[in-house]
Amino acid sequence: MNEKQFVCIVCPSGCRLTVWEENGEVKVEGNGCKRGLAHGIGEYTNPMRMLTTTVAIRGGTQPRLPVISSGEIPKEKLSECLAALYGLRFDAPVKCGDVICENICGTGADVVASRSMGRAASKEE
Ligand code: SF4
Repeated sequence: MNEKQFVCIVCPSGCRLTVWEENGEVKVEGNGCKRGLAHGIGEYTNPMRMLTTTVAIRGGTQPRLPVISSGEIPKEKLSECLAALYGLRFDAPVKCGDVICENICGTGADVVASRSMGRAASKEE
């Protein structure tokens, strides 16, 4: 029995979940509702997360652009996705919702700009 503990993050109650596998079935204790049951099973079998970070952008009004994934991606792939993003370079202007990276690391999720960013005024203007 490989027992794991999680705090349910689905609602502010923060129930403490104990999750384990028994006879091929994932069991959850400590959940106050069915949503916590699903969360506990998901965390135990295939934890998923939204990716939020910033990327370097050339010529923008700020040096970094906030981005977010279009859906959840496997938690174990977050580091690989971040490394892939840090290796890319982007140019302003960018509109909120623009796709920065399609199907990042084969996860099926795109990474999109979570705000718009115009070009910085040129010093020669
Ligand atoms: S188990 Fe249900 S009540 Fe408890 S934190 Fe999760 S969603 Fe909220």
